Amino acid sequence: MLELRRVDTYYGNIQALYGVSLSVEAGEIITLIGANGAGKSTTLMSISGITSPRRGEILFKGQNIVGMAPNNIVQLGISQVPEGRHIFPLLTVSENLDMGAFLRRDKKGIEDDRAYLYDLFPILKKRRNQPGGNLSGGEQQMLAISRALMARPELLLLDEPSMGLAPLVTRQIFEIIQKINKDQNTTIFLVEQNANLALQVADRGYVLENGRITMQDRAELLLANPDIQRAYLGI
Ligand code: ATP
Repeated sequence: MLELRRVDTYYGNIQALYGVSLSVEAGEIITLIGANGAGKSTTLMSISGITSPRRGEILFKGQNIVGMAPNNIVQLGISQVPEGRHIFPLLTVSENLDMGAFLRRDKKGIEDDRAYLYDLFPILKKRRNQPGGNLSGGEQQMLAISRALMARPELLLLDEPSMGLAPLVTRQIFEIIQKINKDQNTTIFLVEQNANLALQVADRGYVLENGRITMQDRAELLLANPDIQRAYLGI
């Protein structure tokens, strides 16, 4: 579904990604793990078109999307849940969901998806007329994921969904991520500092160090790898 080929991304003169190559098959949950500043968010933003790579190719279903505008990339079927959530605090929960469906015209499909998400997150249904800014951190993460899903993506990019959340809430969110992957066959690209949790839900994982992919394997093999355990799992 998605292939990055030797992607180099810069911020001005500062190179953040060095020849990043990776692939995501349809239906998979893929995780990219790495320390603070390794380039995980930059990788996601390179895919979603927010930060365009200087060199390399990003193929989505065979089409090179490098240089395309972010809204066109959403229309192709890729949605991102940004780090820190960035919901619209003054809009209600329901209006935040409308924003996620902004590029869609199929009214019935939009309402079906809203109903599905309210089933998945009953607390959002309960708070549908409240401003997004009044929600707790965990509820805002649920809203950010739901807003992204309202675009009906084939590929969902999740940037640090566990950030700032209590362990119990994080677990709940990760269960939902697995459910979305199974129910809707949404392919998931998950970026996480909580490598333990990410590798438990993922099919395969990549390790990013200083802007370079240094390891890739099936998630259960990465979990059992002593180098990974030492560097990322605190074992
Ligand atoms: P974190 O977990 O802290 O979000 P990350 O792995 O997502 O880290 P990035 O945010 O992608 O890492 O950052 C990769 C590198 O790019 C870092 O060295 C960072 O300082 C640099 N960087 C990120 N954003 C910018 C920016 N807007 N301008 C300049 N440098 C940036």
